[in-house]
Amino acid sequence: MRKQIAAANWKMNCTYQQAENLLDEILGAGIGLGAQQEVVFAVPFPYLIMANSEVADETNYFVAAQNCYNKKSGAYTGEVSAEMLQSIKVPYCVLGHSERREYFQESNQMLAEKIDRCLENDISPIFCCGEPLQVREAGTQNSFVETQLRESLFHLPAASITRIVIAYEPIWAIGTGKTASAAQAQEMHAHMRSILAKQYGPMLANNISILYGGSVKAANAKELFSCPDVDGGLVGGASLQTEEFKTIIKSLK
Ligand code: PEP
Repeated sequence: MRKQIAAANWKMNCTYQQAENLLDEILGAGIGLGAQQEVVFAVPFPYLIMANSEVADETNYFVAAQNCYNKKSGAYTGEVSAEMLQSIKVPYCVLGHSERREYFQESNQMLAEKIDRCLENDISPIFCCGEPLQVREAGTQNSFVETQLRESLFHLPAASITRIVIAYEPIWAIGTGKTASAAQAQEMHAHMRSILAKQYGPMLANNISILYGGSVKAANAKELFSCPDVDGGLVGGASLQTEEFKTIIKSLK
């Protein structure tokens, strides 16, 4: 059975002390996870070691980086490599978030390289994709997302594709308070799974977790996560609020 995941994307928020407190509060709630459930905290780089030691004694709680560079190493001042992340035992890395695509010009091709760097270093990418508002309004979201999957993921062999977690994040729903309806999320997730099935076969496609992201909160998590092809969420704003995120964790299937 594929994993159900509540992933917190903290973005560029929290001081070190606030980050420690937030983790203490959420982990202190002692929310037990089932064998197929996971919680992942995508924290800023300087907090990864601390966060990793906070989750070390917990079952199925993990940390993620929010990005890494597409080159292996070298003269790239300010960048962080997948090898560096592996050396501090980071198991997940968010890649291709729409904010990085927009503000840092990350292309599908560059993301394909980042995916490779992560997999070479035994890090599971949480690959974000999703359409902007004008694409949704034009009704071409299915082919838009298909291109993102093809150009960033479909060079991978079958043995690697199940290492990927996919997050469908319609850009018009991120940080806007505007959530995709459960029907819209399910429709796109089913479409993505069918594309994956065509490329890799239905068995592998069924084992890939596809998260929904875009204004997930305590009040809508249960309905979204109950969709058959929605395997949890990538959560921005609400993941910074203890009670909200605790409820979101408890909403996992
Ligand atoms: C995100 O940034 O990944 C996200 C989904 O943000 P929010 O939940 O705030 O819409």
